[in-house]
Amino acid sequence: MESVEACEQCLRETPHQVSIELHTESPKNTNSEFSHEPYRVTTCLECGETTSQRVNNA
Ligand SMILES: [Zn+2]
Repeated sequence: MESVEACEQCLRETPHQVSIELHTESPKNTNSEFSHEPYRVTTCLECGETTSQRVNNA
């Protein structure tokens, strides 16, 4: 999936590759509800800068 978003490195809107990744949080956290957090990972196709943000509503 691709979308045009602002890039902090390019300082303008550029095409980004967008994917969703599940990151495992600390294993010490026994609350399984929070054991896997979805992150929205975007990679700038111009400069290669990768940004990940936690997704709250997925
Ligand atoms: Zn960029």
